[in-house]
Amino acid sequence: MEARIGVFICNCGGGMKNIDFDAAGAKVAKIRGVTCVNLISDLCLEEGTEKMAARIRAENLDKVVVAGCSPQFKEHVFRNVLENAGLDGHLLCMANIREQCSWAHDGDVTEKAVDLVKMAVYKARLLRPVEKQDIAVDRKVLVVGGGFSAVASALRLSRVGLRPTVLEKEAVLGTSSEELQRFYGFDVSSMIGAAEGDANIEVLTSARMTAAKGAAGDFLVTIMREGEEISRKYGAIVFATGYRTELALDSGLGLPAENEAVSGPKIVSQEQLFDMLNDPFTDTKPRTIGFVFGFSDENSRFPTLATLNNALAAKKEWDSEIYVFCRDVEVDSEGVEKLYREARECGVVFLKCEALPRIAVDNGRIAIEAEDVFLGEDTVVACDLLVAEELLFPTEGTAALSSLLNIRLDSRGFYQDENVHLYPVASERKGVFFVGGCRGDLDMGRVLTDISSAVMSIDKLLSSGTITAEIERVKADPQKCVACLTCIRVCPHGAVQLGRVDGGKEIAVIADLACDACGICAAVCPAKAIDFQGYRDDQLLAQIEAIGES
Ligand code: SF4
Ligand code: SF4
Repeated sequence: MEARIGVFICNCGGGMKNIDFDAAGAKVAKIRGVTCVNLISDLCLEEGTEKMAARIRAENLDKVVVAGCSPQFKEHVFRNVLENAGLDGHLLCMANIREQCSWAHDGDVTEKAVDLVKMAVYKARLLRPVEKQDIAVDRKVLVVGGGFSAVASALRLSRVGLRPTVLEKEAVLGTSSEELQRFYGFDVSSMIGAAEGDANIEVLTSARMTAAKGAAGDFLVTIMREGEEISRKYGAIVFATGYRTELALDSGLGLPAENEAVSGPKIVSQEQLFDMLNDPFTDTKPRTIGFVFGFSDENSRFPTLATLNNALAAKKEWDSEIYVFCRDVEVDSEGVEKLYREARECGVVFLKCEALPRIAVDNGRIAIEAEDVFLGEDTVVACDLLVAEELLFPTEGTAALSSLLNIRLDSRGFYQDENVHLYPVASERKGVFFVGGCRGDLDMGRVLTDISSAVMSIDKLLSSGTITAEIERVKADPQKCVACLTCIRVCPHGAVQLGRVDGGKEIAVIADLACDACGICAAVCPAKAIDFQGYRDDQLLAQIEAIGES
């Protein structure tokens, strides 16, 4: 029996003026298999979707074609409409008559719009429903790291009813969290105490993840702790492994290579200065302190905030003369402007220079020389202490951890977000998230946002106790697969492995829970062995046939 296909044409609120919708509707109605044509303005809005669902039910449609905007924007909306009307969401085919037709051309494009709809109708005839299955998931979450981000994530996960394990390679949690206490008011010790006393949270210190496999909802992780190997199941994994810094000595940034004359307390990092400021037994009160930052990584958030916080603290604590040599103090972090003003009002002097300052040792003091952009002349400041520029790096072990789960790193070695704008805390692998400094140079506001986003995503993923998986939406044909491993290498979600189906030969087996239906494997498989529902060869050929007939 021929499928009953309903076509819904949307004019995008009058945004496609070069299409004659009445004429197009009349032509579409004559395409074989089209049961009804519905011209509905603003189809994606509530009123439009309600009308659409009502028509699907009233006409007892089997399949639906929507002609309107790009499926990238609204396909999920229309799939939901089908589901609400009792149809499988995969029985929808969209014809993009907006970006690929109306907006791409001047002049009347009614004929092209009709052709695109016809192609979609031909494809829709061959659409098949995709079986769905609710798969039980583990509500435990592995949080890798022991600093502020890890502990805060664990506390938030516990609060939403999930069961986190904090996995820290050091013997104790929160080894370098004092700055957060002083500058941002987070009582990290109390947070650690709360995590350790929370019945929902397990804390494993002196422990490392050594292997991991599986998919969202069902990761099997091997942990090595004090010589003992432990296997655990987790529904999601959060990396909160932080970052490390290195002085920019030897990096061609105008600082002398470390040597006897200047090493030790004369050239320090932000962290060392912070420790000096917080050491109640120190008599050291440098009269003059020079800061250098912003030359290697302009507008980097961490050095800017650390410099402003430490410069202010040193001014208040020691009443030192403070000179900050920088290219600019211009970052997009909340509160920087206020800190900068406060520092200036307290007497911190900012020297804007385009070129790297020259550093020399002069009579046991450190001379910083640079051309001040505003004065237009060289300025030399002799300092008792130089707080050197620092570079940010991922913590040791980041690359090893990423390879365990086949997760990409960015060019600097930090974890790479799936989409820097849309999904900044999600990895390409479903169920694996990153928060805080392990994904780059973040300020405190962004770290807190990361934690909230990751916890919300994990809660959404695991809270019901099941994940609905689409069964065999993407599948390798055992007859055609030659186990060449190409799909395993290209899959960005780590969803393909070699395996045997029913005891047969080894072929590519795609994990339904891990697969994100991106289609890359189907496109590159040299044996054309991968069937991708919605983009099967016969469906694409039917579209070509449709355009050939026009
Ligand atoms: S790329 Fe194709 S032939 Fe190669 S392993 Fe994957 S499915 Fe099999
Ligand atoms: S469609 Fe293929 S490449 Fe894409 S996630 Fe699924 S298995 Fe991986």
